[in-house]
Order: sequence, then structure tokens, then C-alpha cells
Amino acid sequence: MESKSYNPFNVAQAQFDKVAEMLELEDGVRELLREPMREYQFTIPVRMDDGSVKVFKGFRVQHNDARGPAKGGNRFHPLETIDTVRALSMWMTWKCSVVDIPLGGGKGGVVCDPHHLSAQEQEQICRGWVRQIAKNVGPLLDVPAPDVMTNSQHMLWMLDEFETINGGRFPGFITGKPVGMGGSLGRTEATGYGLVYTLREALREHGIDITSTKASVQGFGNVAQYAVKLYTELGGKTISISCWNQADKTSYTFRKKAGIDLDELLAITDKFGGIDKAKAEECGYEVLPGEEWLEQDVDILIPTALENQIHRDNVDKISTRVKFIAEGANGPTTPEADEVLKSRNVFVIPDFLANAGGVTCSYFEQVQCNMNYFWEKDEVLEKLDTKMTSAFSAVSELARKKKLYMRDAAYIIAIDRVAKDVKARGWV
Ligand code: NAD
Repeated sequence: MESKSYNPFNVAQAQFDKVAEMLELEDGVRELLREPMREYQFTIPVRMDDGSVKVFKGFRVQHNDARGPAKGGNRFHPLETIDTVRALSMWMTWKCSVVDIPLGGGKGGVVCDPHHLSAQEQEQICRGWVRQIAKNVGPLLDVPAPDVMTNSQHMLWMLDEFETINGGRFPGFITGKPVGMGGSLGRTEATGYGLVYTLREALREHGIDITSTKASVQGFGNVAQYAVKLYTELGGKTISISCWNQADKTSYTFRKKAGIDLDELLAITDKFGGIDKAKAEECGYEVLPGEEWLEQDVDILIPTALENQIHRDNVDKISTRVKFIAEGANGPTTPEADEVLKSRNVFVIPDFLANAGGVTCSYFEQVQCNMNYFWEKDEVLEKLDTKMTSAFSAVSELARKKKLYMRDAAYIIAIDRVAKDVKARGWV
């Protein structure tokens, strides 16, 4: 997660410093916003299945809660570090702010590898995490969610422990719960659909008919599958998709120039988003090397797999036809590649705007839980569309007016809102 040469918190602070300079923020505001407001680090002793005791390290970082309770995932990872959590919590502040939901930024985690832990041991970690931090989290303070290697079951264990400690039902304490147990309809679709709402608006603003466009997608997991679904429903044509092949330990690109058939591909895809190579060949797909998703003759690229996928060494392989990149993954484009895309006038919908549909729907989950009344799926998706569309419009209008790159415009809007709120509250 973090090597000696790459410290995500240094990166997050450098990004912030650049925008703080553009916004000419006062020193006090800069000093406050470049650090998390609160950080908790604690131990979680667990009685293991073999009778021994193992002590795990837990974190929760609340970067800023001026705009509302902190919000962000709890991840389980053997290489988790406090600096990773700090960076992710700061990015959550900007993400919630750019879509203008009344939440701040938080993140947490436990240093552990769930692959090597029984369900009982994982449950003890979840309950232990809550016991250590129960007084500092809650529906009005800080609302956790699933993240890397945590799921809805972990969220339910955490919720149950929180409710046991506090003596009541507080379903708004945590999001990412299963539908029927406090989860929101539409959460599964939210990130992929949210991305396509922003893409639809970008094309509309450029006077491009979506039905005349072609796209190539990296990744075929939750975000990609729903992004392709809605893009296809709106009339777009996806011609290639890449994904990881666990057996061959490499990635492949699956291409059908006439347009992929989503249902056909879903039928031969495993739960990790891996497409069966032999069956895809039988269905008439060309199987190409993994990195070729980026080299296709398309109008739109949608990276929805991993970070650092468009970089200095491959950015020049992007076809001159590509005019839009909608970033579903977090951090798919390196700063060097970003400069190239900027100079080529590619319209980039930056990650923390394009993939904010997930957190926006988590916010809806929290709202529904707090009032104990749940909306129909159509209502959730309609509200999501409204939020994503207005967030996109605000960013693109600023970019147009001030001739800014979309990523810079998004950061300016997000950071400016938080800066104004910490000042309005009289904190600085
Ligand atoms: P997922 O685990 O469901 O799917 C990941 C996909 O990426 C799989 O199809 C996998 O085969 C593919 N993949 C992995 N390595 C690859 C490689 N080297 N080349 C090509 N494909 C590769 O994940 P997801 O939930 O769809 O998330 C995708 C990205 O979006 C991640 O960066 C995640 O952090 C980000 N994101 C997700 C959400 C959400 O709500 N799921 C929200 C915000 C951001």
C-alpha cells in the first residue's frame, strides 16, 4: 500500500498545497486543512481460534467535519499505515464536498489480512474496533462504510456492537449494510451509474450525441458493469473491456468491434469481475493483451480497475480519437500522464467527481436510516442523477469560465467549500 518512495499522504498534501495557492487561502486555513483534525490509533486484542491472543492495530482518522459528520470506509489490509488512512480521509473530505453532500472526510482500518482469519476472528476484530472508538463515531459524528476487504457482514457486526454499547437502534451509524437490514436500494448501481450521469452531461455540453460514441473500459467489476449497462442503455457502444485473469495471472482485453453484449459477458464473468477467456472466444470476442484497452479507436476511455493505469509510458498510445476519459477507479492517471492529456485537450472527468456516486448513495442510505423510511430504487437513482448532474455542471462551468483543467476545477470547488465552512464556523 505504501513504499518508502510513495507516501500517499505527502501526495494528498502536495495536491492540497497547489490548490490552496490557486485559491490564495490564508495561512491558518491551509494549516488546518492540510492535516486531519483528529486521529485515533488503538490496539484490538482478539482471542484467536487456537486459544492464543493476537493484538491488531486499528485506526480512524477524521480529516475534517466542518460540513457534516465524517464519512469514509474502514479497510482491512496487512500493509495499512496511518499515512494511507490520513490521505484517504483527506480525499473523502474533497469527494463529499465536490458533490455537495453534508458530510466530511474520514477513513479507518485495521492492519490484518482477512484471507487468513476465520469468520469468528473477523467478527472479534470488527467488534473490538467499535469498542475502542465507540465514543468518537456515530450517526452525528463519523459514519464508517465498507472498503478494501470489508463487506456488509463486517458492517453489520460493527453496527451490532455500536448498538449494544449505546443501548438502542442506530442504523445510521454505518453504511454499506445489506438491503433489508438498513441498506439502500440502488447502492450496487450507484458508482457506475453516477459515472455515466457525469459522462452523459459532458457529451451533452460538447454537443455530442451519445449514440454516436464508442468506449473502451478497463475493469469489469461492480463499477464497470453498471457503467457499461447505463452507457449501453443510453445508446453508447462499448467495444472492449479488459479484466484480470486469475488463472493466467495477467490481464486481457476482450474486444468485439460491433459492440459487446453485456448480458452475454456477464453470464461468463466470475464474482471477482474476471471474464472466462475460452467462453469469450466461443462467443466471438477477440482476446488481446490486457493493456490494449487503452489503445482502441474510441471516443471515450473508462478506467475502472486500479490506480496508476494511465502513465508516462503508455499515455502516448491513446488514440487521437479519444476526447473523453471518465475515471471510475481512484487515481488511475499519474500526474505526468495528466499533463499530456491536458495538452491534448482530452476532457477528463476526475475520479473524485466521476466515482462519487457511491458515497452519495451511502449518504442516502444514512438519511433513510436516520428517518427509518426507505425509498424505492427509482427514487434513489433519480436523486443520485440530480446530485451527480449538478456537481458535474458546477465543475465544468468553473473549468470553462476560468479555462481550467477539469481536475483542477473540481479540487478548487471542493476545497473552497470546506475552507469557507471552517471560516464561517469561526475555526480559523
Ligand atoms: P471490483 O473488485 O468489483 O472489480 C475490479 C475489476 O478490475 C475486476 O474486473 C478485475 O478483473 C479488474 N482488474 C484488476 N486488475 C486489473 C488489471 N491489471 N487490468 C485490467 N483489469 C483489472 O472493483 P470495483 O468495486 O468495480 O472498483 C473498481 C475501482 O473503482 C477501484 O479503484 C475502486 O477503488 C474504485 N471505486 C469503487 C467504488 C464502488 O462503489 N465500488 C466507489 C468509488 C471508487
